[in-house]
Amino acid sequence: FEPWNDPDAKPLIEFDHVTKRFGAAVAVDDLSLGIYTREFFALLGPSGCGKSTLLRMLAGFEEPTGGDIRLGGQSLRGVPPYRRPLNMMFQSYALFPHMSVEKNVAFGLRQDGMARSEIEARVEEMLRLVKLEPFRRRKPSQLSGGQQQRVALARSLAKRPKVLLLDEPLGALDKKLREETQFELMDLQQELGLTFVIVTHDQEEAMTMADRMAVMRAGRICQVAPPAVVYEAPASRYVADFVGNVSLIEAEVESLSDGIATLRSPAGRIEAETPAALSPGQAVVFAIRPEKLRLSRGAPRAEAPNTLSGTVWDIGYLGDVTLFNIKLASGETVRSTLFNTARHAPEQIGWEEEVTLTFERDAGVVLAE
Ligand code: ATP
Repeated sequence: FEPWNDPDAKPLIEFDHVTKRFGAAVAVDDLSLGIYTREFFALLGPSGCGKSTLLRMLAGFEEPTGGDIRLGGQSLRGVPPYRRPLNMMFQSYALFPHMSVEKNVAFGLRQDGMARSEIEARVEEMLRLVKLEPFRRRKPSQLSGGQQQRVALARSLAKRPKVLLLDEPLGALDKKLREETQFELMDLQQELGLTFVIVTHDQEEAMTMADRMAVMRAGRICQVAPPAVVYEAPASRYVADFVGNVSLIEAEVESLSDGIATLRSPAGRIEAETPAALSPGQAVVFAIRPEKLRLSRGAPRAEAPNTLSGTVWDIGYLGDVTLFNIKLASGETVRSTLFNTARHAPEQIGWEEEVTLTFERDAGVVLAE
């Protein structure tokens, strides 16, 4: 499923140079983006980057100041929210406290004037879908956070929208329930063949669920790609830092040959595969993920490229992995992880111990900005 790589595929949703200003403040800045039918798409970024505003414009709660939003090739300009074939689920769930679960789910269908028997059948189907049949007569206050979340989901799916917009839908759930619900949402999306657009500031959530994600900053998109591409080949220092753990080593390009850049840094010499157009003398940053930095005891035996020496600064045992923060001779701190795959916890490298870090030429990325 990669319609974005198919030159003949046309996106279902198109943001075409969309700008949104609130007074002098620019919330969304000349943003263009296509989202495909049946895609699970995540908008990821820090608070205030404009992700909710983008979603609200798609839903019709805000009108763009400039540019156009199209759905199935048709401009949505001037189309009121209730006439758009999409539905939005809010973080607060916005359930009616005095209504039972069934009535909450049926609400939109009643408003549309659907026949009673049809409403009953649809509510039944929705309750089954989100596994809430035993709770049909309860009020929202008599449900757990996760159950309330499901009622909100059932209600937003009841009208069978083509597109479901989810604004931080799992924000109120605890970690374990959130993880379970992520997989349930993915299953549901597959089962119903819907297009999901989710807003989150939780990068793990975006990575787990999304087919593709857009990393945003200050009203603009920094990178749009499948999670693995964003993680393995971040487009900038900002993206590398925002998504997942990363070590950033300041360096300067010394030489280039055959797609290999040799970098000079206070931490040591780095050789890295790079497709980027760089020039000698250019300031860059080398970004590498913790699991790609191999850790071994003792100082390096000889000076060699991609071999850094350091001292263990912090150790965090997480069960499956142990994190090491390591201070390099240059003063920079890098992070390395060891997977605890042995049956018994291995003898650990200790605090303040001298260590050597090594990595392959294709282990990290060279970033010019
Ligand atoms: P969060 O994760 O905190 O919800 P966000 O990425 O969703 O953040 P938005 O809510 O889209 O960000 O806000 C983007 C910018 O637009 C912010 O600077 C915000 O203050 C501003 N903004 C949003 N709505 C309005 C409004 N109705 N009036 C004025 N400014 C607004």
